[in-house]
Amino acid sequence: MIEQRGQFIQDILISENLDALLIFGLTNIRYLSGFTGTDGVLLIKGDESVFLTDSRYFSQAQEQVSTDRICCYNNKLQEVADELSTGGSQRVGFDADSVSVAMFEGLSGLTGPLQWTPLSTQLQALRGIKTEKELAALKAAANLNHQAFDAVLPLIQPGVTEREIALELEFVLKRLGGEANAFDFIVASGLRGALPHGVASEKKMIAGDLLTIDFGTRVDGYHSDETVTLAIGEVDRKLRQIFDIVLEAHDLALAAIQPEMPICDLDAVARDYIASKGYAEYFGHSLGHGVGLDVHEYPAVSARTEQKLLAGMVITVEPGIYIPDVGGVRIEDTVVVTTGGFEALTSIPKQFTQIQN
Ligand code: ZN
Ligand code: ZN
Repeated sequence: MIEQRGQFIQDILISENLDALLIFGLTNIRYLSGFTGTDGVLLIKGDESVFLTDSRYFSQAQEQVSTDRICCYNNKLQEVADELSTGGSQRVGFDADSVSVAMFEGLSGLTGPLQWTPLSTQLQALRGIKTEKELAALKAAANLNHQAFDAVLPLIQPGVTEREIALELEFVLKRLGGEANAFDFIVASGLRGALPHGVASEKKMIAGDLLTIDFGTRVDGYHSDETVTLAIGEVDRKLRQIFDIVLEAHDLALAAIQPEMPICDLDAVARDYIASKGYAEYFGHSLGHGVGLDVHEYPAVSARTEQKLLAGMVITVEPGIYIPDVGGVRIEDTVVVTTGGFEALTSIPKQFTQIQN
């Protein structure tokens, strides 16, 4: 188990009154054990940790994984069941977010009667606070965003398709060292800007469009996530107005970030401002999300999240306004919460920028 992360698991065993804990989710497996492959199970029985994988990953696991034992299986669920029975575990927790009903039924059919405890938020919160090493990877990924954006900016002009911009961003990010796209890039111009998740299309940009670009990459497994909205030439007054409202909502929310603040209160800062300008119904998504080994992870920065912001959490702040048949604006930064407020990881300037030709 990596560094002090074994202790996080011991704390969960105690607080949930468990003998054993099974982790099937690959992101948590990577976080806890170092394993980067795509098949494996992590089992903690009391103070012993066991990593199980198939033969393809056995050598890789021996290099990467720091558990007490590493086992190789032919039949995954049977091997897990055997491990549980040899340990005499009775009260077994598992990560409910990663186990399907079919898988659970398969496993519980192979073990004797056990007391199963599905865990969800307890495990999601595990990765909430980032270490300096994790922050360095997140910062490196965010820096690649800025470099790639600067490289691609000269291509953004009327007549160029959204897809060409997305492809060029992907190419530059990978050439600079990005491991993979964080998600399908959103490049949405003109009326398509009203689609919060408008993936890049064959639509050509035209003068008068607002252009929203939401993109990110990955470094050492850690993601960047950032959204810029640009104006292609002169845009009409209504579009400029919604841009200014979204930017102000973004700035107000960033300025409000403080550790120990209920996360729903941060969402409310941006939401209330947008509502005060009459656009409440056009801001349909939550303000943001945690970013780390997953591009969307704990904590959700939403009106329903009552947990508190804590120093070391990495979150996005991404208000938007999307008006059907008019267009849309989103502005997003990824920041780390600090004892005094926040520090931005992403760094592309977000002020109103007009592309001139
Ligand atoms: Zn994004
Ligand atoms: Zn995001």
